[in-house]
Amino acid sequence: MFLASQTANKVLIMDIKVSENQLFFSQKLMNWHHTINKREMPWKGEKNPYKIWLSEIILQQTRVEQGRSYYEKFIVNYPTIVDLAAANDDDAFKLWEGLGYYSRCKNLLFTARTIAEKHGGVFPQSHAEILALKGIGPYTAAAISSFAYNLPHAVLDGNVYRVLARFFGIHVPSDSTEGKKLFTALADACLDKNAPAAYNQAIMDFGATVCMPANPLCNDCPVQDKCVALQTGMISQLPVKTKQLVKRSRWFTYFIIEYDKKHLVRKRDGKDIWQNLHEFYLEESTVQSNWTDGSIKMFMENSLNIKTEVVHRSATFTQQLTHQTIFAQFILVQSLSAFDAPADYFWQPIDAINKLAFPKTITQYFNLSLFQTTMF
Ligand code: SF4
Repeated sequence: MFLASQTANKVLIMDIKVSENQLFFSQKLMNWHHTINKREMPWKGEKNPYKIWLSEIILQQTRVEQGRSYYEKFIVNYPTIVDLAAANDDDAFKLWEGLGYYSRCKNLLFTARTIAEKHGGVFPQSHAEILALKGIGPYTAAAISSFAYNLPHAVLDGNVYRVLARFFGIHVPSDSTEGKKLFTALADACLDKNAPAAYNQAIMDFGATVCMPANPLCNDCPVQDKCVALQTGMISQLPVKTKQLVKRSRWFTYFIIEYDKKHLVRKRDGKDIWQNLHEFYLEESTVQSNWTDGSIKMFMENSLNIKTEVVHRSATFTQQLTHQTIFAQFILVQSLSAFDAPADYFWQPIDAINKLAFPKTITQYFNLSLFQTTMF
């Protein structure tokens, strides 16, 4: 077993029983893949690098069940990378709406255009060229290289870290510099160089369906005989992580300002969350605001110099992001007179509001019957 100590960090791969056990692990895993693994996914066995890339980007931070319909929508609307390169940004973001982590969509468009312009619309075929593309990290580059071109590059994501940490009993933190090097070397050592595509698919499926984060199916596991975590009762402790995720809270008050059957909206930009998505007039704070009709009217007068009628105030909506929690309240007001949209904002007709892409919190609010009967 590895220990999280300086000494242990210096242990060479050959000294950690990898050579002894990696063959056992790889062979058992491949046998399981060919005889038992029945995991179905629409992109499984795909050789088209564009479709592999699209599916891998969608699956980052997203469950397969949720990502499936998005993958299918993108393939129908943009069957080739050249079609995606020619996409209208707003249309693509509208398709992505609800999937979250919108920088993925932005990078998809950027990289599709790079490939269209610099590679003649043909996906690069070397691992180095693929890794150089924006939005493609080591995991996605290994997946595309192996699945599309059968190149010997091992995938290493959260699933693989967990499987390797448990089977080999590795206590070096997977998010430390030493841990990353160690796991990368171990993943490469275990890779079946004769069948990298099948091996990578096998270990991804194995992590998702057998060696799961909670309640792994050890009784049915093909590598249980030599699994260190199982033998030492360390399953729930592995893999080890050093970093604690600290979340910050943000309170958003969205003023949905209506005049002459139009709403004031803007597209978010800058380096913050939800880039390229739309939103209503926003007031942000670090604590909850207790809005009353009086304070709302006063705020509208002070910030936009308009007189308003308050139509309704919503309950608070919560959206969990990786590094922050968003609390949002929606306040619907009618302006009593015309006014020019402030900088960055524009007027969108009410009957065309659904053509814009919004963050999940806002679309959840849209789905409330109160909002729909009030506004549409
Ligand atoms: Fe994972 Fe259990 Fe198999 Fe070990 S025995 S690899 S913990 S499923």
